[in-house]
Amino acid sequence: MKEYYNKSVDEVLQELKVGENGLADLQVDNMRMQFGENKLKEVKKPSPIMVFVSQFNDFLIWILLVAAAMSAFLGKYESTLVIAVVVIINASLGTVQHLKAEESLQALKALSSPKSKVIRNGATVVVASEDVVVGDLIIVETGDFVSADGRIIKSFSLKVDESALTGESVSVEKDTVTINASKLSPGDQCNMIFSGTHITYGRGVAVVTCVGGNTEIGKIATLLERAKDKETPLQKNLDDFGKKLAAIIIVIAALIFALNLYRGKPIIDVFMFSVSLAVAAIPEALSSIVTIVLAIGTRRMAKENAIIRKLYAVEGLGSVSIICSDKTGTLTQNKMSVKQIYTRSQLFKEDNLDIKQEHDFRLLMMSMLCNDAITTESQELGDPTEIALVNLGELYGWDELRVRENYRRISELPFDSNRKLMSTLHDIHEKRLMVTKGALDAILQRAQFIDDERGIRAITPEDRANLERINTELGQKGLRILAFSYKEFNGEQLGLDDENKLVFIGLIAMMDPPRAESAEAVANCYRAGIRTVMITGDHIITASAIAKEIGIMDNTTEAIEGYKIESMTDKELLDIVPKVSVYARVSPEHKIRIVRAWQELGHAVAMTGDGVNDAPALKQADIGIAMGITGTEVSKDAASMILTDDNFATIVKAISNGRSIYGNIMNSVKFLLSGNTAGILAVLYASIVNLPAPFAPVHLLFINLLTDSFPAIAIGIESPKASLMNEKPRDIKESILTRPFAIEVLLQGLLIATVTMMAFHIGMQASEAVAVTMAFAVLCLSRLIHGFNCRSKGPLTAETLFSNRYIWIAFITGFLLLTIVLTWDPFKGIFEVAKLTGQQYLVVLIFSFIPLVCIQLVKRIRSAYNKALV
Ligand code: ATP
Repeated sequence: MKEYYNKSVDEVLQELKVGENGLADLQVDNMRMQFGENKLKEVKKPSPIMVFVSQFNDFLIWILLVAAAMSAFLGKYESTLVIAVVVIINASLGTVQHLKAEESLQALKALSSPKSKVIRNGATVVVASEDVVVGDLIIVETGDFVSADGRIIKSFSLKVDESALTGESVSVEKDTVTINASKLSPGDQCNMIFSGTHITYGRGVAVVTCVGGNTEIGKIATLLERAKDKETPLQKNLDDFGKKLAAIIIVIAALIFALNLYRGKPIIDVFMFSVSLAVAAIPEALSSIVTIVLAIGTRRMAKENAIIRKLYAVEGLGSVSIICSDKTGTLTQNKMSVKQIYTRSQLFKEDNLDIKQEHDFRLLMMSMLCNDAITTESQELGDPTEIALVNLGELYGWDELRVRENYRRISELPFDSNRKLMSTLHDIHEKRLMVTKGALDAILQRAQFIDDERGIRAITPEDRANLERINTELGQKGLRILAFSYKEFNGEQLGLDDENKLVFIGLIAMMDPPRAESAEAVANCYRAGIRTVMITGDHIITASAIAKEIGIMDNTTEAIEGYKIESMTDKELLDIVPKVSVYARVSPEHKIRIVRAWQELGHAVAMTGDGVNDAPALKQADIGIAMGITGTEVSKDAASMILTDDNFATIVKAISNGRSIYGNIMNSVKFLLSGNTAGILAVLYASIVNLPAPFAPVHLLFINLLTDSFPAIAIGIESPKASLMNEKPRDIKESILTRPFAIEVLLQGLLIATVTMMAFHIGMQASEAVAVTMAFAVLCLSRLIHGFNCRSKGPLTAETLFSNRYIWIAFITGFLLLTIVLTWDPFKGIFEVAKLTGQQYLVVLIFSFIPLVCIQLVKRIRSAYNKALV
C-alpha cells in the first residue's frame, strides 16, 4: 500500500497529476476506471427467488401444507390444488410487497445519501460521496463526514474525530506538514484524513489518495452490512401479538380436535375443522400490511419534504408532544439583510454609512474580510449571516473577492457556535490585524478597548452598558446582531487563546424574518396538543422578539439563557422546563439536558439540530430532525428524519402524516382482527353446539389471504384527515391493543359471526352444502363491506364515502373474486360451493349489509353524543 504522509504536498499532487483547479471531467472518469468507485462492498441483497422461498418459512404455511398433503392422501385433490394455489399466490404477493417496500426504503436512503464538496474544473461542486475519485480535491469543514482517504493540502485549524477508525474519541489536529517516517498507523498520520471519520472543527482541503475498499475503513470492514431497518415498535408489538394469538389458537384448535374426536366424528373431518379454526384465526396479512403501509407512507412524506431515515420515526411522530426547534432557518427564512449599523457611537441605516469616514470604511472592510461567503449574479454561497455582510458591501459598490485579494487571509479561526466568534488575520495598511466578529457578549468578554469618534481608548463600564442597551434595542426589533473588533497581531498562525484584548469597533444588525407559515404551524401544533419550544444560539432578546411574533412565547412563559441551565441540577431543570418557551445562547450540551427533562416529564420530544455537536441530542430525542440544506452530514447521520426544506411547518406536516399513518395501520389491524374474530367465533359456535364445520379451510384461506388483503391496504393508505390535528397526541406508553380497541374488535367480530351463522342456519334448511356456501359468502362479503366501517373512527358521510377510491377498488375486486368462485362452474367444484337460488343470494346480500348498518348507526349515535358533550 502506498504511503502519502511522508511525501510533500507538491509530490503527492504531482504523483496524482492534480493541479489547484482539481480534476477535469475526463480525468475523473479515468481515475474511476483506474482506481475504482468510492463504494464499500455491500452484502448481497437476497434475490427475488430467495425472498419467495422465505415466504414459506411460516408456521401457518406449514399447517396448510400438512392439510394439503392430508387432502391428497384422502383423494381430495381439488382441496390440495386450492391450498397449493392460495399458498403460492400468497407467497407471490408477499414477495412483491417485500420487494416494493425494500425498493421504496432504498429510494429513501438514496435521498439522504451523504454528499461531498470537491473542486473540479476550477469550481467547487457538491457530489454524492460515492462519486468521489482518487485525485479529487475534497473540501472538508466542521460537521462533514470524510468520504475518502486523503493527504491534507490546506488546513485551517482542522480537527478530526477519528474514533470510528482508531477508537480514540478525542479529536486530533491535522495539518499539512510532511512526516519523515514510514509504516505509521492511521492514528499517527496527522497530515492525512480518513474515510468514515468526521470533522469536529475548522476547514481543510485534501487530495484523495484512496477510495472505497482501499481506504483504511474499507480494509477493516470489507463488507458493509446492509443497514437493516430494525422492526418498528408497532411491527414488533404486532408480531409478538400474532405469535401469542397463534399459540392460543393452536391450543383451542387442539381442544376442539379432542372434543370432536370424542364425539366420534371421522378423523379427517375433525382435522380439517381444527385446521379451519387455525386458519381463521391467524392474521397472516398483518405484518406485510404494516410494512407496505409504512413504505407507502414514507414515500408520501418524502414528497412533502420529510425524509424518514428510521422507520420507527413514522409511528413516533404521532406521539410527539414537544417540538424543540432551532430558530435560524427553521422558524425564520434564513435570508438575512442588514438593517442597522452602529459605529462612531451612532446608529445608521444600512445605506447611510459614510465610507469616507475611517470607522465606517474599516468596519465595512472587516465585514468583507472576516467572512467566507461568496455571491455572484447567479448564486450566493455560504452562511446567510455572512452573505448579508457581502450584500451590504455591494450597496457601496464593493466586491468581496477584490477586497479579499488585496488583503489576503494569513490565518483564521473558523466560526463555531460554542465560541460564537470568528477571527481572521490580514496585513492591512502596514499593520497585521486580527479581525474578530461574533456575538456582542462574546466580544465584550474579550474586549479591552473601543475605537470610536474619540479614537482608541480603554473600554469603560459606561461603554459596555451603552452597547448592551443598543443591543437590547435592536434585539427587541427581532434583529440579529454581530459585533466587530480587531487587534494588532505579530505572528503567522492564530490560536484560540489569541482572541483577547480586542478593540471593539461596531455592530451590524440584520433582519431574518420569520417564515410566512411558521405562525400558523405553531398554532396548529397548539391545537394538536403539541408545544413548540425555541432553542437557539442567538441572543435572548432577539429570540424572544421572534418567538412572540410567531406565537411560541406569551406572557405566561419565559425565556432563559443557556448558562443558567449549566448551574441547575436536573431536578431544578425539571421544575422550570414547563415554564420556558425560549432557550437562548444555548450550546449543544444544554440541548440534551432539555430533551431529557421533557422526556422525564413523560413527553415524546422532537428536536431539530444542524451542528456537529447536535448529534447526541438528536439521538436522545424521540425524533431527531436534521436540516437537509444547512445541516452538517454528522447531524443528518444521527437524525431519524431529515427536512429537505429546513422548514418548521414541514415538521408539523410530518407529525400529521405520522398520526395518520399510525391511525390507518390501527384501522387496518382492526379490520383484519375483527374479520378473523368473526371466523373464530363462527367455527367455535359450530363446534360447541355440534353443527357441521361452517367453512372449509379453503374458504377461510380465500378470505384471509386474498379478499381481506385489498381493503386492509386501502384502509392503510387513507389520506390524512384535517381533524387529526385537533386531537391530543397519542400517549407514548400506550400499548397498541387498548381495552376499547379490543372490545370494539370483539363486538364487530361477534356481529359478523352472528349474521354468518344466521345465514348458515337458513342454508341448513336446504342442505349442509348450501349452508356452508351461504356462511362463506356472508363472511366474505360482510368483511369486504366492513372495510368501509374501519376507515375512520367517525361515521361515513356522503363526503367521505367516495374520498378513498382504493377502498372501492378493493371492494369491487373482492366482490368479483367472490362472484367468480360462487358462480363459475370450474371454481365451484374446487371451492366446494353449492349452487344458490336467487332468494338465497338475496339473503346473503342483506345479511352482509347488516353489520355495516348496525356499526354506522352506533357511530352516528356516539358522534352525536360526543357533539352534545362539547
Ligand atoms: P439557531 O440555533 O436557532 O440556528 P443561530 O444560528 O442564531 O441560532 P448560532 O449560529 O450558534 O445560532 O449563532 C450564535 C451567535 O453567533 C449569533 O447570535 C451571532 O451573534 C454569532 N454568529 C452567527 N454566525 C456567525 C458568523 N458567521 N461569524 C461570527 N459570529 C456569528
